[in-house]
Amino acid sequence: MSATTPVVEFRGIGLTYPGPPPVTALRPCDLTIRHGEYVTVVGPSGSGKSTFLNIAGLLDAPTVGSYHLDGVDTGALPDADRTALRGRRIGFVFQSFHLLPHRSATENVLLAMVYNTKARADRQKRAREALARVGLDHRADALPTRLSGGERQRVAIARALVARPAVLLCDEPTGNLDTATAESVLALLDELHRDGMTLMVITHDPLVAARGQRTVTIRDGVLSERAAA
Ligand code: ADP
Repeated sequence: MSATTPVVEFRGIGLTYPGPPPVTALRPCDLTIRHGEYVTVVGPSGSGKSTFLNIAGLLDAPTVGSYHLDGVDTGALPDADRTALRGRRIGFVFQSFHLLPHRSATENVLLAMVYNTKARADRQKRAREALARVGLDHRADALPTRLSGGERQRVAIARALVARPAVLLCDEPTGNLDTATAESVLALLDELHRDGMTLMVITHDPLVAARGQRTVTIRDGVLSERAAA
């Protein structure tokens, strides 16, 4: 896609759970995120953050509106194509890391390259490079159980990066970390942003939200934007 095509483009996107009674978890909203932007999405529990994340991450379809991801109209896609688009264009980072405990750091990262048809040696090299990018080349063969929380989240970030996604979608990425470790993970996200990565970070923590260039607030299903502090 050209550099001017937005990475994320929501037009009138909303979601109402059918119920009964029906619950409008996200009211129709517009949002445009361009290449290289760092956007944080903040709101209290129950405000609609997960609903927003699930739509942005192509895990759920909106009930109204259109969503273009990297120029692709996602509403028009059959399920298999949506899944492939998600695998190629979105790197997920979750609060609880979601690593396979009996696979090494490198193997966990390799698992994110299911859509990559290159030879295993090339994929292995890419996995090692991704681990080096997050400062973990020396722990490439370690099992997640032998890694600290901060190291586990770095492996998860390497896994999210290795397929060269259009956007890194992080759900409470520091929620399971102590303050010092959280800061080092946030510093890594800052670095990735400086290197040109597009980031969307969902959080209830105002300190994490303040790291973004732009902050979007969700309250009672209403998305609004204010300038970052
Ligand atoms: P958050 O992630 O900010 O805690 P959610 O997106 O999970 O908020 O929820 C937003 C609203 O939608 C809440 O009122 C919640 O109870 C409601 N909700 C979430 N999932 C469902 C569902 N499957 N069916 C009905 N209502 C739901």
